[in-house]
Amino acid sequence: MRAPAAAGLASLRWAGRRSTAAAFRAPSTTTALSPSSPSSPFDHGQSRTGATLVDTPTAAHDVARGEAPPPESPSRQAEASRIFRDAVAAAGPRQDWTRREISAIYYQPLLELAHQASTVHRRFHSPGEVQLCTLMNIKTGGCTEDCSYCAQATRYQKGTGLEARRVETVESVLAAARKARDNGSTRFCMGAAWRDMRGRKNSLRNIAEMIRGVRELGMEACVTLGMIDDDQARQLKEAGLTAYNHNVDTSREFYPSVITTRSYDERLQTLGRVRDAGINVCSGGILGLGESSEDRVGLLHTVSTLPAHPESFPVNALVPIKGTPLGDSTPVAFTSMLRTVATARILMPATIIRIAAGRKGMSEEKQALCFMAGANAIFTGEKMLTTDCNGWDEDSAMFGRWGLSPMKSFDKTPPGGGQVR
Ligand code: SF4
Repeated sequence: MRAPAAAGLASLRWAGRRSTAAAFRAPSTTTALSPSSPSSPFDHGQSRTGATLVDTPTAAHDVARGEAPPPESPSRQAEASRIFRDAVAAAGPRQDWTRREISAIYYQPLLELAHQASTVHRRFHSPGEVQLCTLMNIKTGGCTEDCSYCAQATRYQKGTGLEARRVETVESVLAAARKARDNGSTRFCMGAAWRDMRGRKNSLRNIAEMIRGVRELGMEACVTLGMIDDDQARQLKEAGLTAYNHNVDTSREFYPSVITTRSYDERLQTLGRVRDAGINVCSGGILGLGESSEDRVGLLHTVSTLPAHPESFPVNALVPIKGTPLGDSTPVAFTSMLRTVATARILMPATIIRIAAGRKGMSEEKQALCFMAGANAIFTGEKMLTTDCNGWDEDSAMFGRWGLSPMKSFDKTPPGGGQVR
């Protein structure tokens, strides 16, 4: 259990910040993209090498696929309005969304979409409560996968200069978890740059010890270790794991442009094993990989039609890292980020939506818009794997200015009922 003294210290810190007008250091904002001219009916002003400028209904795309009449058609507009209205009014989560329905929601006028997502958020969550998670890299670099965005892949090491490190000790991980807890974080996530856990018996034993230690601190424990089998999932569950993170990253169609060493189905199989072991699933995506709006709709379709909605859905904005294949990517437009958050909130009303990588580059006002539209978790602390993270002081000051408060541990009803484990 969490030590009362430490818990008191953390809450005092956040409460204290709330009444203090601490100086806010405005971070740089996401870069606006320059319009690109469509080169084919399938481009819609977007490209595979640059992120979307503006998310607009993709008439040509839909017509070419024989899926829908053009958006200017009154019948389609009426249908989209009806889908949107019904989705917002839904009494609980549903897993049978079609891509057409998700498109109808995603392409709504943005402020209306954000506003309606906000009403859904208020029905399913305490508005203003935001979960504080801290993410630690417990094994850096040396990964055999080829994720085009990742500094930890061995094959990009020459360009990134990132040095691989051995697995952290249990003691050092628990010291970091204690520090995170004392600063107000309630979930501690541990990431290891591995393809899978095959032949890593000793490491799994150590990780189980880390999980037990994190739980003894009164925190929720999450890990991301690549692919795992049924037995490994069972061992993690027995150690007390709260959630397992395994992102699907993007749509099924676009995924092979980003990763070739692990299939989309393998990712879904890992999520199935986690779910079957009774561990909460954390699975999200990365925006700004060069995907189209349709790919963002595809990502949302994948996660919202899983047998159970993920307990948490991290929305990452790519932080381009020099030396990786996506190192020169243009940052994703904030409107795409907001659209994705708002649509996810409507599709998966009970899920925790986490603003993950890329938050460091978002102004406080942009973050606030995401919180309004349904985001209710952040990563906070010193580092986020290999990139910088907004620190606890910065975030507690922001919470004070916007009237936000930290979500307590184990205080969330996961999608489908029950208790956060
Ligand atoms: S599996 Fe994870 S650590 Fe490995 S390259 Fe992909 S994102 Fe990076």
